[in-house]
Amino acid sequence: MKAIKPSYEILTPIDGIKELQHIERIGRVCYKSEGNITEDGESAKKFVSMLIKKGHEAMIEHSSLSIKFTVDRGVSHELVRHRIASFAQESTRYCNYSNDKFGNEITTIQLLGGILEENKIINDGYKLGLIINEWEKAMEDAEHHYIKLIELGATPQIARSVLPNSTKTEITITANYREWRNFFKLRTPASAHPQMREITKPLLIELKEMLPIIFEDISIE
Ligand SMILES: Cc1cc2nc3c(=O)[nH]c(=O)nc-3n(C[C@H](O)[C@H](O)[C@H](O)COP(=O)(O)OP(=O)(O)OC[C@H]3O[C@@H](n4cnc5c(N)ncnc54)[C@H](O)[C@@H]3O)c2cc1C
Repeated sequence: MKAIKPSYEILTPIDGIKELQHIERIGRVCYKSEGNITEDGESAKKFVSMLIKKGHEAMIEHSSLSIKFTVDRGVSHELVRHRIASFAQESTRYCNYSNDKFGNEITTIQLLGGILEENKIINDGYKLGLIINEWEKAMEDAEHHYIKLIELGATPQIARSVLPNSTKTEITITANYREWRNFFKLRTPASAHPQMREITKPLLIELKEMLPIIFEDISIE
């Protein structure tokens, strides 16, 4: 059993100004103000900022972003609730983790980052150690039963029933900027799951740097 950290990868190349200019060209059709477009991108910054402040967010649906997440299956269950997005996810029906290709073991997502994000037992190292220890035992048990089921002739899609929520999954999400804004508003606050926040907070920080006009008004707790 291997335990790795969660991660993300922004798959869409982002040129911040070009993205804004694309939205500007589309949005100015509404106001017939194409004559105000400047090549340096300054008009695009002001225009897109105005759209977002006014709530005319339909215009930012004209740009999209694909992001690959490596998270556990619990977090991925939450990700796929976002109906406006499109998904491609590693299949536990087709992947046989007992194969050499997967190192003959299951890969899980470490629990520690989520626990630290939750911030309840951070000062009690002993308790933290016991929790991690217990979790590791559960993961090893699950792995043992998964591999045993396959040895007994079960297909991966049947053996997967004993895989834990902590099983690592890769999931690529494509969504437009409007949906990503909705996503971050729901998935970064303290009310979101700590393992979700562990990954969405650094991602939002990075996107705020790349696309400040689109994401700057979404605060991070
Ligand atoms: C803190 C938290 C706790 C949660 N707890 C639970 C829980 O206990 N149980 C549970 O089942 N789920 C839970 N969820 C998931 C939640 O119910 C939503 O499914 C999820 O957050 C997706 O939100 P969304 O509908 O805004 O996103 P999307 O599905 O991506 O939709 C984006 C936006 O499109 C619009 N939209 C989409 N579909 C429709 C529609 N049919 N009609 C009208 N407008 C639509 C809405 O404006 C919506 O905000 C929780 C989510 C959060 C953030």
